[in-house]
Amino acid sequence: METVFTKIRAGAIPSAKVYEDEICFVILDINPVNKGHLLIITNEVHPTLADTPDEVLSHLLVIAKKADAKLREVLGCAATNVVINNGEASGQEIPHLHLHIIPRYTDDGKRLTFPKTHYDEGEIVALGKRLEFE
Ligand code: AMP
Repeated sequence: METVFTKIRAGAIPSAKVYEDEICFVILDINPVNKGHLLIITNEVHPTLADTPDEVLSHLLVIAKKADAKLREVLGCAATNVVINNGEASGQEIPHLHLHIIPRYTDDGKRLTFPKTHYDEGEIVALGKRLEFE
């Protein structure tokens, strides 16, 4: 399966690559929330979390930790958002798993805007029981 990211990895689409290994590669997002916004992308195409082997997922978080440290060191950002859009309905545009690492600054005016809902009486307990897993 070919995606924008497989084309980038193959060099058919130019990118600013900052890291690569046998499992993933890291590029600068072309439309950053803040400058330095990174994408950690799997080498193999796995559309969503459910399709991605556990060992790949574990590795992605280790690389996210390194990317976070580099952003703080070079840009002086105060924090990062680590985001996975997991499926089209969540806003995922490219069906090829990737983590967004977004540099954040105090009062930078950027927000993850998820308007919140609420539970009716007893609903949170009942739903919690239905969602238990091992
Ligand atoms: P998502 O909505 O989670 O699938 O995110 C896809 C991201 O890929 C978006 O933030 C885009 O800005 C980014 N993107 C799309 N095309 C390119 C490209 N050619 N180079 C770098 N980033 C890209």
